[in-house]
Amino acid sequence: MKIQSINTGNFKLDGGAMFGVVPKSIWNKTNPSDTNNMCEWSMRSLLIEQDNRLILIDTGIGDKQDDKFFSHFYLSETELFESKLNKLGYTKSDITDVFLTHLHFDHCGGAIQWNKDRTGYEPAFKNANYWSNEQHWQWATEPNPREKASFLRENILPIQESGQLKFISRTGNISKEIFQNIDALFVDGHTESMMLPKIQYQGKTIVFMADLLPSVGHLPLPYIMGYDTRPLITMNEKEAFLNEAVENDYILFFEHDSINECCTVKMTDRGVRLDQTFTLKDVFN
Ligand SMILES: [Zn+2]
Repeated sequence: MKIQSINTGNFKLDGGAMFGVVPKSIWNKTNPSDTNNMCEWSMRSLLIEQDNRLILIDTGIGDKQDDKFFSHFYLSETELFESKLNKLGYTKSDITDVFLTHLHFDHCGGAIQWNKDRTGYEPAFKNANYWSNEQHWQWATEPNPREKASFLRENILPIQESGQLKFISRTGNISKEIFQNIDALFVDGHTESMMLPKIQYQGKTIVFMADLLPSVGHLPLPYIMGYDTRPLITMNEKEAFLNEAVENDYILFFEHDSINECCTVKMTDRGVRLDQTFTLKDVFN
């Protein structure tokens, strides 16, 4: 097994929306904002090679929306995903599995691209199965008005139309061994049935945090995004997860922290807090 991190690009989101009830005077210390109150976030994917599989976890925002859409997000580091993949020795057609934690546009936009003559859409990874789950799929395709702007039809429906959509079955809060050495944890606070891959690798456990914990700045329990549909459930899910992470010395891999790729956590008298930050490359060769 080989695991590599790819940052598909950076974007900006309103700092207030990212920290919910926490005042700016506090969150601005860990996540400084620009003059428009926007903070910079990465859209980091994981690429996992094992046996005959090449698994991509989340795909970033992609490149098919119009300039007006992208102008809201101040994209940077936008070198084509294809060339980032080429540098690691792969092409898009090598990807066998695309695991989508959830279907918000900053996680799945890169899954679907324009076709050659720009008359319609096609899967960006033509040889891949695309993994979601039935509960989240239904939630995303019949969106509530509050979340609707995050679930874009052009990111979602072409996956099903291509015949490449597969569902991971959910019973309880964990589905074991969805791939070899990889479990899926289910959480419901951010959106319905978001999936966090939990990966056993060289004697360590790496958890892909997606939107349960977007950044190191979100470690304290009440630091919950305004976007979350069920914030009190997020709080309980975070607490349970962070206690487990301390006990088992998990490596937390951040999709959205533009500074810190990974961290470990420790128990303090104020609750679970940051221990160390590092990259996957620092730990594994
Ligand atoms: Zn999300």
